[in-house]
Amino acid sequence: MDRTILHCDCNGFYASVECVMNPALRDVPMAVGGDEESRHGIILAKNEKAKKFNIKTAETIWQARQKCPELVIVPPRHDLYHEFSKRVMDIYKRYTDRVESFGLDEAWLDVTESKMLFGDGKHIADELRHVVREETGLTISVGVSFCKVFAKLGSDYKKPDATTVFSRENWKEFIYPLPAQDLLFVGRKTTAELHKLGITTIGQLAAFDERSLVSHLGKAGGMLYRYANGLDDEEVRLVNEKDDVKSIGNGITFSHDLTGEGEIRGGIYALCDSVASRMRARDLNAPPCRL
Ligand SMILES: [Mg+2]
Repeated sequence: MDRTILHCDCNGFYASVECVMNPALRDVPMAVGGDEESRHGIILAKNEKAKKFNIKTAETIWQARQKCPELVIVPPRHDLYHEFSKRVMDIYKRYTDRVESFGLDEAWLDVTESKMLFGDGKHIADELRHVVREETGLTISVGVSFCKVFAKLGSDYKKPDATTVFSRENWKEFIYPLPAQDLLFVGRKTTAELHKLGITTIGQLAAFDERSLVSHLGKAGGMLYRYANGLDDEEVRLVNEKDDVKSIGNGITFSHDLTGEGEIRGGIYALCDSVASRMRARDLNAPPCRL
């Protein structure tokens, strides 16, 4: 039997939390970002009004101000974001015992066994959007599909506050035209490798010869082939399941090369935040280090 998996993503998480705490911020373009004094802090999240000015996560505050001089910058309050994250995750846990968080603001839910109680995947997704908004003031976008990778694509497909269903019937029509780099774990390097093979869309990746993908990209090639063809069968972890991780790390590709201590510090803080959250979830700690 096909599984029903949801991927829930809090929209503009840090910025949305700040807007809940201070609703006046909704009416102005605002972003959460650090260290404005040095002109090197980076944007960690932005509200809908700031999006209209094409403000991007991970660009410098200085770049953002070029596009929107009146942008209001709010310093990050990480404790508050953790508190909101927990509240949202607790709501998800009412619907299934398979809730796997991915950073503070995203989670997969396997609701296959919950449908008798709560309705089909789309119904649960719509209800979750409603309940999260009512109880926390945050909006989420939800992807519904038969595997984790496509559910994640779905939560990205339409936002904010939307449900997208990629079913057995419609997924090729919607997912094949998407850029290959939209797939989970496809970074800038892999994207460049794929372009060399003439692959720009998920559909082209799905149709490519699996063996030649593996010969060009190694193990990752096989994984991407499975992802693009909807063959990802990874389970959503149980709420209290501790996987046997060897290491926890994080990496993103910034929109530009970071320069200067302030900018690099801001970038590292953003990455550390997600690593720390995943470590806390597993009751792990690391020796202290200085940044
Ligand atoms: Mg988010």
